[in-house]
Formats: sequence, structure tokens, C-alpha cells
Amino acid sequence: MQIRRHWDSFVSILFPPLCASCENVLLHQEEFLCSYCQFHLPVNDHYLFSNNEAMRRIQYQATIEMAAAFLSFSESSLVQTLMHKLKYENELQVGLYLGSEFGHQLLTSPHFRDIDVVIPVPLHPKKKKSRGYNQCDSVAQGIASILKLPVNTIDFVRLLNNPSQTNMHRMERYDNVENIFRCLNPTAFEGKHVLLVDDVLTTGATIGSAARCLNSAGCRVSVATLAMA
Ligand SMILES: [Zn+2]
Repeated sequence: MQIRRHWDSFVSILFPPLCASCENVLLHQEEFLCSYCQFHLPVNDHYLFSNNEAMRRIQYQATIEMAAAFLSFSESSLVQTLMHKLKYENELQVGLYLGSEFGHQLLTSPHFRDIDVVIPVPLHPKKKKSRGYNQCDSVAQGIASILKLPVNTIDFVRLLNNPSQTNMHRMERYDNVENIFRCLNPTAFEGKHVLLVDDVLTTGATIGSAARCLNSAGCRVSVATLAMA
């Protein structure tokens, strides 16, 4: 143990751990984010009130119990840096860390009490293969580790890889995502309260489509997204 501790100190002198956002060297008691970045995370209070902006974006697209986005996303912000690392640089620690922070928040909410299973919004297999991972999986794992719930990444799948929606109008986006998900094993979901997890909420078209599919399989659905643009 003693040798291990000396070795760890030696390594941390050569390669000091850096803040995942600003990349300044972390102080001894800091973990993953420096105190400055941690303090400046734009955390939402959605988890406390069902009348929130995340809910407003999704509630007309599917029957959902509750929705919350953990952070507010804006251009050139520390959230954008973190989301980029999660989505394109395979930094799954970002998902696990922020997911568990979000999990602690949800744990204190009266609106997320009877969830049975956590499901990350799936990627199309081709996209998952080219990226190498689904960035939502680590977020779901981070949340589930705090809520002490199982994560199901097998029985809910994406059949179609919808093209980029950036230049589409709201109704086009809605048509674009219809019937792109499927529950492979409906008995795994029937009567369950599912927490559907995504990385970023924009119009809510994709997550709305996923929630409708789960509604059809007999689920009650709540939604948790890491950020909201
Ligand atoms: Zn920092």
C-alpha cells in the first residue's frame, strides 16, 4: 500500500490531474472539475418543479411523467467543452461524473421516486460503430449508480439513423423521427416506469419519439437530459 501511494504521488507530479473543463491543474481536494468550473456550472432547478422548460418541450409529443435537464447549454461555455469531450472525444468520465452529479440532484426530487429502469436513448448501430460508443450510456450509468437502478441498453433500439436536423423546421423534425425506435422485448418494459436519458435536449423531437415508443409498450416515461440548448 505504502509503495502504491508513493507511486501515485510520483505519477501525479509528472502528470497532474487536470480540470476536465478549463484544464488547469486540480488541487488536492478537487476531483474532475476545479472549484471555479464546478461553481460556474449552470445547473437548472427543473428537478424540483414539473412546470419546467424541459417538460414544456416534450409534454405535447408524448405522455411523460416528468422531465429535467441538468445543465443549460450555451455556445463557447464550459458546458459546450464538456459535451464535446463526451460526444466526440470518448471521454466517458464526463458522462459518469456529470451523470452522478445529476443523480444526486434527482435523488432529492419528489418527482423521480418510483423509477424502475434507466434507458439511454440508443444510437443506430452504424453510428455507434463509427463513434465507438453511445455517449448517453455513461450518463445513464452515472445517474443509475446514484439512484441504485439497473440500466437497460439491450431491449430498446434505434432502427433508423435520422439525418441531421439542424436545418429543419419543427414539423419536419417531428416527421423525421417518427417510428425510428423499437422495443425488442416488450415484456421487459410493460408496467415499468422508465427514465429515458439523453445528452442534449433541443426541440425534444427525438426524445419525444423514443418516449412515444415506450408509451406504446406500456411504460410510464420520465426524461433526464444532461443539458438543454
Ligand atoms: Zn476548471
